[in-house]
Amino acid sequence: MSENKVIAISQFALSQWGCPHCGYRSGYMPIQVGGSAMWICGECQKRCAVLADGITRSKIAVGAPAYYPELQPHPLEGTPKHGRPDKKPVGGGEYFRSRGIGLDETPGCFVCGGSTKLHSNIAAFVQCKEAGERIVKMFETGARLDYREHEPDRIQVKIGACDKHFRNLEMLHNKTSETGTIVAEMIFRSKTEV
Ligand SMILES: [Zn+2]
Ligand SMILES: [Zn+2]
Repeated sequence: MSENKVIAISQFALSQWGCPHCGYRSGYMPIQVGGSAMWICGECQKRCAVLADGITRSKIAVGAPAYYPELQPHPLEGTPKHGRPDKKPVGGGEYFRSRGIGLDETPGCFVCGGSTKLHSNIAAFVQCKEAGERIVKMFETGARLDYREHEPDRIQVKIGACDKHFRNLEMLHNKTSETGTIVAEMIFRSKTEV
Protein backbone atom coordinates (compact mmCIF):
# COMPACT_ATOMS: atom_id res chain seq x y z
CA MET A 1 0.00 0.00 0.00
CA SER A 2 2.58 2.55 1.08
CA GLU A 3 4.71 2.12 -2.07
CA ASN A 4 1.74 3.25 -4.15
CA LYS A 5 1.29 6.44 -2.15
CA VAL A 6 1.86 9.52 -4.20
CA ILE A 7 4.84 11.47 -2.89
CA ALA A 8 4.67 15.25 -2.59
CA ILE A 9 7.92 17.17 -2.97
CA SER A 10 8.73 20.85 -3.23
CA GLN A 11 9.23 22.67 -6.52
CA PHE A 12 12.78 23.36 -5.37
CA ALA A 13 13.50 19.66 -4.70
CA LEU A 14 12.22 18.74 -8.16
CA SER A 15 14.47 21.40 -9.72
CA GLN A 16 17.52 20.03 -7.88
CA TRP A 17 17.09 16.27 -7.52
CA GLY A 18 14.55 15.52 -10.26
CA CYS A 19 12.05 12.66 -10.12
CA PRO A 20 11.63 11.35 -6.53
CA HIS A 21 11.63 7.78 -7.89
CA CYS A 22 14.53 7.78 -10.37
CA GLY A 23 16.21 11.21 -10.40
CA TYR A 24 15.38 11.98 -14.03
CA ARG A 25 15.13 15.70 -14.78
CA SER A 26 12.44 15.85 -17.49
CA GLY A 27 8.72 15.30 -17.26
CA TYR A 28 5.46 17.06 -17.74
CA MET A 29 2.69 18.56 -15.63
CA PRO A 30 -0.76 17.53 -16.81
CA ILE A 31 -2.55 19.25 -13.88
CA GLN A 32 -1.81 22.46 -11.99
CA VAL A 33 -4.07 23.95 -9.34
CA GLY A 34 -2.86 27.01 -7.47
CA GLY A 35 0.54 26.05 -6.09
CA SER A 36 0.02 22.31 -6.52
CA ALA A 37 0.82 20.22 -9.57
CA MET A 38 1.01 16.62 -10.66
CA TRP A 39 4.27 15.81 -12.40
CA ILE A 40 4.88 12.72 -14.53
CA CYS A 41 8.43 11.55 -15.04
CA GLY A 42 9.61 11.22 -18.66
CA GLU A 43 11.76 8.22 -17.76
CA CYS A 44 9.97 5.99 -15.20
CA GLN A 45 6.49 7.42 -15.98
CA LYS A 46 5.66 7.54 -12.26
CA ARG A 47 3.88 10.56 -10.88
CA CYS A 48 4.41 12.80 -7.89
CA ALA A 49 2.87 15.95 -6.47
CA VAL A 50 4.92 19.13 -6.68
CA LEU A 51 4.22 21.94 -4.26
CA ALA A 52 5.16 25.61 -4.49
CA ASP A 53 6.97 27.36 -1.63
CA GLY A 54 4.89 27.52 1.54
CA ILE A 55 2.43 24.80 0.55
CA THR A 56 2.62 21.65 2.66
CA ARG A 57 -0.29 19.67 1.32
CA SER A 58 -1.33 19.09 -2.28
CA LYS A 59 -4.61 20.60 -3.42
CA ILE A 60 -5.00 17.77 -5.91
CA ALA A 61 -6.60 14.61 -4.55
CA VAL A 62 -5.27 11.22 -5.59
CA GLY A 63 -6.09 7.60 -4.88
CA ALA A 64 -9.20 5.78 -3.72
CA PRO A 65 -10.14 6.58 -1.07
CA ALA A 66 -8.92 10.04 -2.03
CA TYR A 67 -6.17 11.77 -0.08
CA TYR A 68 -4.07 14.89 -0.44
CA PRO A 69 -0.33 14.09 -0.49
CA GLU A 70 1.68 15.92 2.16
CA LEU A 71 5.05 17.49 1.61
CA GLN A 72 7.97 15.21 2.44
CA PRO A 73 11.73 15.31 1.95
CA HIS A 74 12.93 14.27 -1.51
CA PRO A 75 13.96 10.58 -1.25
CA LEU A 76 17.00 11.18 -3.48
CA GLU A 77 18.03 14.49 -1.90
CA GLY A 78 21.72 15.21 -2.49
CA THR A 79 21.94 13.33 -5.80
CA PRO A 80 21.83 15.80 -8.68
CA LYS A 81 19.10 15.09 -11.24
CA HIS A 82 20.19 13.46 -14.49
CA GLY A 83 19.19 13.56 -18.14
CA ARG A 84 19.42 10.99 -20.89
CA PRO A 85 22.72 9.10 -20.87
CA ASP A 86 25.04 9.58 -23.86
CA LYS A 87 24.49 6.11 -25.37
CA LYS A 88 25.49 4.94 -28.84
CA PRO A 89 23.85 2.14 -30.83
CA VAL A 90 25.69 -1.20 -30.80
CA GLY A 91 25.78 -1.26 -34.62
CA GLY A 92 27.68 2.05 -34.83
CA GLY A 93 26.75 5.63 -35.62
CA GLU A 94 24.24 7.52 -33.50
CA TYR A 95 20.58 7.16 -32.55
CA PHE A 96 18.47 9.20 -34.97
CA ARG A 97 14.67 9.05 -35.02
CA SER A 98 13.46 10.99 -38.04
CA ARG A 99 10.07 12.63 -37.56
CA GLY A 100 9.68 13.02 -41.30
CA ILE A 101 10.32 15.82 -43.77
CA GLY A 102 9.12 19.34 -43.03
CA LEU A 103 10.18 22.90 -43.67
CA ASP A 104 12.58 24.83 -41.44
CA GLU A 105 15.63 27.03 -41.48
CA THR A 106 18.88 25.13 -42.01
CA PRO A 107 22.43 26.27 -42.79
CA GLY A 108 22.27 25.36 -46.48
CA CYS A 109 21.59 22.07 -48.26
CA PHE A 110 23.34 18.91 -47.03
CA VAL A 111 24.39 18.11 -50.62
CA CYS A 112 25.33 21.45 -52.22
CA GLY A 113 25.62 23.93 -49.33
CA GLY A 114 24.34 27.46 -49.77
CA SER A 115 23.05 29.97 -47.25
CA THR A 116 20.87 29.71 -44.15
CA LYS A 117 17.21 29.90 -45.12
CA LEU A 118 14.05 27.82 -45.22
CA HIS A 119 14.72 24.38 -46.64
CA SER A 120 12.91 21.09 -46.81
CA ASN A 121 14.39 19.29 -43.83
CA ILE A 122 14.48 16.16 -41.76
CA ALA A 123 13.80 16.79 -38.07
CA ALA A 124 15.08 13.92 -35.96
CA PHE A 125 15.22 13.22 -32.25
CA VAL A 126 18.69 12.29 -31.05
CA GLN A 127 19.95 10.74 -27.81
CA CYS A 128 21.36 13.84 -26.11
CA LYS A 129 23.04 17.16 -26.82
CA GLU A 130 26.52 15.65 -27.17
CA ALA A 131 25.25 13.02 -29.64
CA GLY A 132 23.47 15.77 -31.60
CA GLU A 133 26.68 17.77 -31.83
CA ARG A 134 28.52 14.71 -33.17
CA ILE A 135 25.81 14.19 -35.81
CA VAL A 136 26.01 17.82 -36.98
CA LYS A 137 29.78 17.33 -37.43
CA MET A 138 29.11 14.34 -39.74
CA PHE A 139 27.77 16.90 -42.25
CA GLU A 140 29.92 19.45 -44.04
CA THR A 141 26.89 21.66 -44.49
CA GLY A 142 23.11 21.77 -44.05
CA ALA A 143 22.78 20.41 -40.49
CA ARG A 144 22.12 22.11 -37.18
CA LEU A 145 21.29 21.22 -33.60
CA ASP A 146 17.88 22.32 -32.27
CA TYR A 147 18.47 22.58 -28.53
CA ARG A 148 15.97 24.25 -26.23
CA GLU A 149 17.05 25.15 -22.72
CA HIS A 150 13.66 24.18 -21.21
CA GLU A 151 13.58 20.79 -23.00
CA PRO A 152 17.09 19.41 -22.47
CA ASP A 153 15.99 15.82 -23.19
CA ARG A 154 14.11 16.49 -26.43
CA ILE A 155 16.97 17.32 -28.73
CA GLN A 156 16.57 17.45 -32.47
CA VAL A 157 18.93 17.66 -35.38
CA LYS A 158 17.65 19.34 -38.55
CA ILE A 159 19.08 18.50 -41.94
CA GLY A 160 18.12 20.60 -44.93
CA ALA A 161 18.08 20.17 -48.70
CA CYS A 162 17.41 22.52 -51.61
CA ASP A 163 14.61 21.70 -54.09
CA LYS A 164 17.10 20.09 -56.46
CA HIS A 165 18.23 17.67 -53.75
CA PHE A 166 14.86 16.83 -52.23
CA ARG A 167 15.15 13.21 -53.37
CA ASN A 168 18.54 12.95 -51.64
CA LEU A 169 16.84 14.08 -48.44
CA GLU A 170 14.10 11.48 -48.89
CA MET A 171 16.75 8.81 -49.32
CA LEU A 172 18.48 9.88 -46.11
CA HIS A 173 15.13 9.83 -44.31
CA ASN A 174 14.38 6.32 -45.61
CA LYS A 175 17.82 4.95 -44.74
CA THR A 176 17.87 6.36 -41.21
CA SER A 177 14.26 5.28 -40.57
CA GLU A 178 15.09 1.64 -41.33
CA THR A 179 17.46 1.40 -38.35
CA GLY A 180 16.63 4.40 -36.17
CA THR A 181 20.29 5.34 -36.46
CA ILE A 182 22.54 7.44 -38.68
CA VAL A 183 26.01 6.41 -39.87
CA ALA A 184 28.42 8.27 -42.17
CA GLU A 185 27.88 5.82 -45.02
CA MET A 186 24.15 6.66 -45.20
CA ILE A 187 25.00 10.33 -45.62
CA PHE A 188 27.59 9.57 -48.30
CA ARG A 189 25.23 7.34 -50.26
CA SER A 190 22.31 9.75 -49.98
CA LYS A 191 24.52 12.49 -51.43
CA THR A 192 25.89 10.42 -54.30
CA GLU A 193 23.42 7.68 -55.29
CA VAL A 194 20.33 9.64 -56.32
ZN1 LIG B 1 11.30 8.87 -12.70
ZN1 LIG C 1 21.26 21.18 -52.86
